[in-house]
Amino acid sequence: MAYYVNRNIKMTWWERLYLPEIIKGMGITSRHFFVNLFGFVPYLLGAKKERPIMTVYYPEEQVQYPIAYRGRPVLAQNEDGQPACVACGLCEIACPAYCIHIEPSENSGKQNQYERWPDVFNIDYAICIFCGNCEEACPEEAIFMSDDCEISMLDRKQMLYTKEQLLTPVADLQKRIDFTRNMYAKWNY
Ligand code: SF4
Ligand code: SF4
Repeated sequence: MAYYVNRNIKMTWWERLYLPEIIKGMGITSRHFFVNLFGFVPYLLGAKKERPIMTVYYPEEQVQYPIAYRGRPVLAQNEDGQPACVACGLCEIACPAYCIHIEPSENSGKQNQYERWPDVFNIDYAICIFCGNCEEACPEEAIFMSDDCEISMLDRKQMLYTKEQLLTPVADLQKRIDFTRNMYAKWNY
């Protein structure tokens, strides 16, 4: 849906003076600055039960991300321990960052119920842009965006995750699976 900015707003004479509005804006910014700077004092003295500061003390405190959040993409692992992936390569093609590498293999009958399966499935998080295209492209509900964003490393090579590292039990992804089913149904896929 296109969104148009209304540029024909009629300002009052007070707003047209310009400077009072600038001063008002700076006042709001300064108030937030000082609340953040000294807001812990009443909390420490016991006058307040909660800190009025919005800053999260990461990593001691963790943020609960909304279900729509796109963290690192992971591979869904079926109850038999195998990936739900059929190595069709659609996510690899849909990936704008070219960070997915798949080497398909014929199923010997031991892996899972599908004819094809990925012998190699790598995602390089060093170049992933967390766009979610892979999740959207997958016809098998085999790849999902998780809420995990703690993937910083000292060595870029360690950010190349293999199939074994990517596997995440379907039960842990159930909320995201339900969310995507709901979302794509709305979009009339
Ligand atoms: S989230 Fe985007 S960039 Fe990352 S692997 Fe998926 S398609 Fe590629
Ligand atoms: S994760 Fe999905 S889209 Fe990617 S290769 Fe596997 S089945 Fe195909």
